[in-house]
Amino acid sequence: MSTDTPGSQSSLHRANLERVLRAVRMAGSLTQAEIARGTGLSAATVSNIVRELKESGTVVVADTSSGGRRARSVSLSGDAGIVVGIDFGHTHLRVAVGNLAHRVLAEESAPIDVDVSAAQGFDRAEALVERLLAEAGFRPDKVIGVGLGVPGPIDVETGALGSTAILPGWTGIAPGRELAERLGMPVHVDNDANLGALGELVWGAGRGLSDLAYIKVASGVGAGLVVNGQIYRGPGGTAGEIGHITLDEAGPVCRCGNRGCLETFVGSRYLLGLLSPTLGPDLSLPRVVELAHQGDLGCRRVIADAGRQIGTGVATLCNLLNPRRVILGGDLADAGELVLGPIRDSVARYAIPSAARQLSVVPGTLGGRAEVLGALALVMSEMGESGALGRSAQTSGARS
Ligand SMILES: [Zn+2]
Repeated sequence: MSTDTPGSQSSLHRANLERVLRAVRMAGSLTQAEIARGTGLSAATVSNIVRELKESGTVVVADTSSGGRRARSVSLSGDAGIVVGIDFGHTHLRVAVGNLAHRVLAEESAPIDVDVSAAQGFDRAEALVERLLAEAGFRPDKVIGVGLGVPGPIDVETGALGSTAILPGWTGIAPGRELAERLGMPVHVDNDANLGALGELVWGAGRGLSDLAYIKVASGVGAGLVVNGQIYRGPGGTAGEIGHITLDEAGPVCRCGNRGCLETFVGSRYLLGLLSPTLGPDLSLPRVVELAHQGDLGCRRVIADAGRQIGTGVATLCNLLNPRRVILGGDLADAGELVLGPIRDSVARYAIPSAARQLSVVPGTLGGRAEVLGALALVMSEMGESGALGRSAQTSGARS
């Protein structure tokens, strides 16, 4: 933290510097005019700051064209630091190593039964991080931070997985603190829906937008909300629990203790339960989507009904937050128009027309990589000025 008096010339300069760095960090590469527009700083201020950052080796500047005119694009230097992303799903572990210039240098995913034991999961993650760093040719001390995704809400106070988490082997464990100790690196933690939103915002279907929602439909249903270019988490870190919107007071009992939550109509367990009497017990959601594409009427019907229910939740979200785009992630997104069409129908029916008109509903473009890329983006989003300038960040992230 700066020791300058707030409002002094030098603290203002540092604040402007950080705004420029943050804009470039999140976009990957921007022209100076785009930086000025995005930060609200004058062209002359941006130009001075970019020159200073270039001289310190923090950014690189290259000639490009923008709208047919010559322009200069600014991106962070590839050796400004390394970031690591780790995504724990229920059945997989995925790790990526990238640099601040948005290049993914190494990535690997491994099947793992994460639910059983947290310690086993951490062992695997630790080994994979070490191996990928070695493969990419970087020493661990080059790592500015680690983004960690877990499939459940994180308690802001304790850093532990919240009570609705569906990871029985992880109860009471603060995954960020645990991993920070093992790796000796600062770790930032967030849930999978927020990371999917960040991934799509920085690398995928949400690029260039500042207001969007990412809805992940898997065994659970969650949303990551981006408001003004930042993830909105709420004071308790539970914003975006769209899966627990009540659709039917007398509906099936949900794991949260209520009845008739959206999740009890569209979560994978519920959908598979509808189809297993006719298609057998060894069904998976990807298989249902595949059969639907091949024309199986039962699978198509179940997916369309799920789309309509998701659309009811999206309509509520739309009325409350007025996002520009809703991005569907998780296995169900592979159903494409079979699920997106019914979602749009429900939005048209239940959302107020002015909010619905501005909304587009699209599938994510990153598939199963959204969360791990979002974990990389989380580090870029959370790190302070010191991290951007290549020194190691504070000992631990805010939610680790
Ligand atoms: Zn519920």
